[in-house]
Parts: sequence; structure tokens; C-alpha cells
Amino acid sequence: MKEIRVRFAPSPTGPLHIGGVRTALYNYLFAKKNGGKMLLRIEDTDQTRFVPGAEDYIIKSLDWCGIKFDESDIVGGPYGPYKQSNRKHLYKQYSDELIAKGHAYYAFDTAEELDNLRKEAEAQKKTFIYNAETRQELRNSLTMTKEDVDELLADGTPYTVRFMMPENHIVEMHDIIRGDIKVNTNTLDDKVLFKSDGMPTYHLANIVDDHLMKISHVIRGEEWLPSMPLHVLLYQAFGWESPEFAHLPLLLKPDGNGKLSKRDGDRLGFPVFPMQWENPETHEISSGYKQSGYYAEAFINMLALLGWNPGTEQEIFSMDELIQAFSFDHCSKSGARFNVEKAKWFNHEYLMRRSSEEVGAEYKEWLKSEKNIDADIQYVTKVAALVKDRVNFVKEMWDQSFFFFEEPTTYDEVTVKKRWKENSADLMRQASEVIRNIDDFSAENIEKVLNEWITGNELGMGPVMNGLRLMLVGAGKGPHIHEILALVGKEEALKRIEKGVEVLK
Ligand code: GLU
Repeated sequence: MKEIRVRFAPSPTGPLHIGGVRTALYNYLFAKKNGGKMLLRIEDTDQTRFVPGAEDYIIKSLDWCGIKFDESDIVGGPYGPYKQSNRKHLYKQYSDELIAKGHAYYAFDTAEELDNLRKEAEAQKKTFIYNAETRQELRNSLTMTKEDVDELLADGTPYTVRFMMPENHIVEMHDIIRGDIKVNTNTLDDKVLFKSDGMPTYHLANIVDDHLMKISHVIRGEEWLPSMPLHVLLYQAFGWESPEFAHLPLLLKPDGNGKLSKRDGDRLGFPVFPMQWENPETHEISSGYKQSGYYAEAFINMLALLGWNPGTEQEIFSMDELIQAFSFDHCSKSGARFNVEKAKWFNHEYLMRRSSEEVGAEYKEWLKSEKNIDADIQYVTKVAALVKDRVNFVKEMWDQSFFFFEEPTTYDEVTVKKRWKENSADLMRQASEVIRNIDDFSAENIEKVLNEWITGNELGMGPVMNGLRLMLVGAGKGPHIHEILALVGKEEALKRIEKGVEVLK
């Protein structure tokens, strides 16, 4: 069997959108599942769209996601360099080859001339297409004598090399996800492949590199489907075996109306980028999954299921499990709707599955950086054990546990109104005495002693517990009272009760 070799080929024109991360992920899963290789190729031939920092951002983001490459300019490999601008010298010979074989030609039309033709066509409610119908009337090597062409080239006249799209020909193709596809070439144009500045366009560089790098499967987003006929024809023109193609479904906006775009994210209240991105020109910040508190595993698990399903009810997959389960048989043709609630749910699931020690360590760091609290790791670990199941993100733990780190300074009005009764102050003073006399201050023992006292004196569970909660937390939330008592400790608890009674009595 042919060796499986896939590539992720981003253009560094900005931050990587989560749709791009998913493309990289499916390439990775497919390669690993089939014992193949995955390479990273930077497609930077369009210098006008170059954005500083984008390449570095893409590499760091994929690394954070746990998508590892077998070949790239960083890890090396036998087919490098893996950045197209460093392969510039390679492409001209292929452009020349196509011209020599009669599959491409020189065109000398200026941008201005083409623009005018477009405008003229528009005025007649038509679209101008550079193809078999129009090429015979334009300034190119098909309409000029060889001498004229040679002279223009010798003079250094700017030119492009265009693919000669066959006329009225049906291109028959196969896509792994979409099945058989047929396209009539009359709907296609003579795409530019190469320019006189020595740079190939995306189409030529992409095909040449896929061939030279022995790519077996081209797995990419649906937005590249319209390029597939040209690419297939280019392989035929060169006489090369074409790789197999799989075009992945689009990621849609949450309402299903259209493609999830780079602009949607912060507008709709969730990140569309794996990591935070700062626009190098405007310094505008776009949020990222990493900085928003998502675990990479949760993010990847969520993305994997946008466009693919395992065919079972299982939803939680480690990267290794994804590799084992992945196949194109369960990839859908139709777009996958992004769902931010589901994304949070995944993070919650991963947070719950982490040990209290791990979450505690993360929370300790958060407390230091966000609240300037230097907490003891053992203490934070115990707090984490109590509240981690109640939140989606580590940063949400504060709201569930602030009272473990600072005494209440206010008492929630609604809770006070509802829970603080005539006899509450008195009840709290009595509870204080009971608590003061508990020697074994473990949660279990506290619970036992308080329960015995409450039932023995027919005090009612509600009034005592609600009152204590108000004293200890300042609000009507938090874990079990005996857990809170045990963790904050006897002295601190007594202090809080005394203060609360003073304020509310
Ligand atoms: N450079 C293209 C991109 O930015 C690659 C498309 C392809 O995979 O062929 O998406």
C-alpha cells in the first residue's frame, strides 16, 4: 500500500481560525490512524497578504493543541524546505514545463486592462472570464507571434503565466467525503500560475509541492473545493498521479446561517482562535481558547466532533482515542454548527476528570495572578476538591470559593431577607458555643455533632444551616456547611459568626 502522507498547509495571513485547527486535526488523526506522516508546509507565496507574527502564532497554536508534525522546518525532514518562499527557485521550471507542453501560456494584459474588461462586462450585466472564449482576443502568447513574445520577455515586460483551461471538457473527480463530482471546464477560468516577479501562485506551488513532498491525501476545508478541478487538471497536465482529496464541511455560525468567520468570535461572545491574537497593526486583541481558560484536550475533543462522529454515543475522547476512532466514513458533507455551550460542557467534563491536586495547582496560580493571594497548596487542593465539579473553568472557581480565602464583608440582601429571622442571632450564638466545643474538627465529626445538637433540641436543620451559611459565606451559596467549617477552621469560623451577628442583629 502507498505510504500515507498528509500536510497542513496554512498561509500566514493572520491567526489560525478554529476551522483551520480542525483541518489540521483531521489530517493528524487520519495520518496517525493509518501509520502515516503529517507535515507542516507554510504557503507564503502571496507576499501582499503576509502578516508578521502569523506563522509563529500558527506553530504555537498547533503545538498547544497537541498536533505534532513528523516533518516541518522546525523538526526537519527529507523534503524541505517546508516554507514556499524558501522554495522559490523551484517553481519556474514547472511553469516552463506547462508552457512547453501547451498547457499554459504567457499573458501580458496589465491589471488596468483586465480591470477595464471587468467593468465593461459588468456594465452589460455580464462577468468577464479569462478563458477559451476570451483568450483569443487578449494580449497573450496565443494571439502574438513568437518573435513578439520573445521581445516582450527580453525587455522584461511584466507577465503572468496562465493555465490553458480546456474548452467544454467534463472533469471527473472523486472526493472521499463528497463522492463523485463532475465539473464542466466552461465554468472555470485560466488561472494565473506564475508571475514575472518569480513567484508562483498558490495553485502552482501547492500542486508542485504536494507532488514533490509525495502527499497521498489532500485534506482541507470545503472552501477549496472550487479549486479541485484546476488541481486535478494540473496533475494531468504534468502527467503526475493525483493525491486523493477530502474536503471537510464548513464550520457554521451557532444559528447555522453561514460560515463561522474570523470576525464572528468576539462579536458572538466566544473565541474563534485557539490562542489570543493581537493584530500587529491595530493592536486589537481577539480572544483565544487557551487564554479563556479552556484545556487543550477539551478544545480538541470539541472540535473533533464538529463534522465527524464516532458512530456511537461516546463523546469524551482523548487524542489517542480520537486517532483510533477516526475515519472519513463518519465525516459529514453538511456544515457543522458551532455551539459554545457544548464547548463549555467539554471543558467542564475535562475539569471534573482532573485530580484535585492538578486543579488545585492551577487555581493556586490563578489566585496569585488575579487576586494576589498566596495560598497554601494543600489548602487550595482541598478547596478544589469541593468546588471543581461546579464550574466549567478554573477562573469560575473564585465565585464558588472566595469565602475560603477572605471573610465576608457584605451579606447578600436577598438571602438576608429570606433567611435571617428574629431568632437567628440567638441561634448563631448557641451554634458558636457548640462549635467552640468540637475537638475533632473534621467535616464528618462537625456534621455529626451539629446534627445531634439540632435534632436533640428540635431547632430545625434549615434555620441553623442557613444562618451559618450566611455568617461564613455572606451569601446563600457554597458547599456543605460542615465542609466549609472544617476547611476555614474553628477560630476563623467563630470570628465570622461573631462578626455576622454583630452586623445583622
Ligand atoms: N494555503 C492554503 C490555505 O491557506 C492551503 C489549502 C490547501 O490545503 O490546499 O488554506
